[in-house]
Amino acid sequence: MIEAKSGNGRFVHKLWHVLIQRVPDSFNIFMPLHRVLDITLPINNKLPVWPGDLGILVEPSARIVDGAPANLSRIEMGSHTGTHIDAPFHFVLNGRTVDKIPLALLMGKARVIEVPDGKQAIDSTIVESIDPGLERVLFKTQNSKRYSSKFIQDFVALTPNGASALVEKGAKLVGIDYLSIETYGSKEHETHHILLRSGVVIIEGLSLKNIEPGDYELIALPLKIEGGDGAPARVVLRSL
Ligand SMILES: [Zn+2]
Repeated sequence: MIEAKSGNGRFVHKLWHVLIQRVPDSFNIFMPLHRVLDITLPINNKLPVWPGDLGILVEPSARIVDGAPANLSRIEMGSHTGTHIDAPFHFVLNGRTVDKIPLALLMGKARVIEVPDGKQAIDSTIVESIDPGLERVLFKTQNSKRYSSKFIQDFVALTPNGASALVEKGAKLVGIDYLSIETYGSKEHETHHILLRSGVVIIEGLSLKNIEPGDYELIALPLKIEGGDGAPARVVLRSL
């Protein structure tokens, strides 16, 4: 947005930013320029987990009400819990691990594309309609309305030909609103292989129910787990 302005427009826009940053929050009478939308699932023991995966445990280990000096918790969960990022190492023997994914890939302009209800798969015909050169694509499907503590098997997923079409279009990141981007029960995990071998970052478990389709700035930062095959991430969109 800043880049789109020129001359005086750009100067005024920057000045506006500086002014807002200098005003303490409690005195800030200006409307925020960019709305921040959280598209992360809350981590709790009601989140669905992949069949066979570890459950989620967030348990108090010390509590002030019990006389402890501070509140502390113990957290146990799989590396692909809730809203998370798949590193190439998830499916590729010597693939890049989650701590090595360039942060620049995880931040920047992204488009939320709505897949009509009733569509069970995102295939190349849907991907064909996407502008070439779009680097980050998030698919909003009926999955977002179907989150509950019970894992569902018939979630909307990206087909291998859809994945290939995305790679050909030049996508660098793709996100989806259920725990896997791949159709449940896939034996070869072809969608993951096509994306991860091409260096496309995958975000799974997005919560897009209240998000309008369109362009945003995406910020998706996974926990820096050294050597990790994936990691939970806090993912937000900022309006442009
Ligand atoms: Zn995955």
